[in-house]
Amino acid sequence: MKKRKLILSTGNSHKVEEIKDILKDLPIEVLTKKDVGLGDLDVVEDGKTLEENSIKKAKVLAEKLDYMVLADDSGLFVDRLNGEPGVYSSRYAGEEGNDKKNNQKLLEELKDIPLKDRTANFQAVIALVTEQKEVIVVKGQCKGTIGFKEEGNNDFGYDPLFIPEGYDKTFAELGEEIKNKISHRAKALDEMKKAIKDIIGVSLI
Ligand code: IMP
Repeated sequence: MKKRKLILSTGNSHKVEEIKDILKDLPIEVLTKKDVGLGDLDVVEDGKTLEENSIKKAKVLAEKLDYMVLADDSGLFVDRLNGEPGVYSSRYAGEEGNDKKNNQKLLEELKDIPLKDRTANFQAVIALVTEQKEVIVVKGQCKGTIGFKEEGNNDFGYDPLFIPEGYDKTFAELGEEIKNKISHRAKALDEMKKAIKDIIGVSLI
C-alpha cells in the first residue's frame, strides 16, 4: 500500500532531522517542502506568538498541496529576561538564524547571574493542516537552565547552552537520542502522533 505523505514546512535542517527521527515509527512518508519543489517558498513570521506563526507556516504551504503539512515554530523563553528571546529566538542578535551571535548575546545578557536564576524553557508549537484543510495545533515545553558557556558539538540554536531539568549536560552534549525523547519538540510531536494515527487510521499500540 502507498504511504500517505506529510510535508514539513521548515527549511531548518536540524528541525527536519529531529522531526523525521521522532515520527519514524509512523507509516507515513515525511518529506520537506524542498522535496516537493517548494524550497523557495518563504513565509514571513510576523505573528506575535509561536501559535500564530506555526499555523501561518503550515497553511501557506498547504494551500499549494493536497498532502498533510506540518509546521514547527519554537523558541527559548528565559525567565530572568522576561521571556526573551521567545518568539524572536532565531533573530535575537539581529541577524536571522545567526546562532553563534544569538548565543553570545544570551551569555552577555545573563553575565553575573547565578545558575539558580538562569532558568528557562524551550517551547514548540506544531501545526498540522490535514488533507481536508483542517488545522490541528499541539504544544510542548522543556524546562531547564542556561549554562555559562557553550558546551557540546551540535550547532543547533541554543542547544550548546540549554541544560534540561534532571541533567547536568547541555542538549548539544546529550545528543539526539536523549534530546528527541525529552525536548519541547518531542513532547509536542508525541501528541501530534496520536492525531496523525487517527487521521490515517492506525490503531494506537
Ligand atoms: P523558528 O521556529 O524557525 O522561528 O526559530 C526557532 C529558533 O528557536 C531557532 O532558530 C533556534 O534559535 C531556537 N530553537 C528552537 N528549538 C530549538 C532547539 O530544539 N534547540 C536549539 N534552539 C532551538
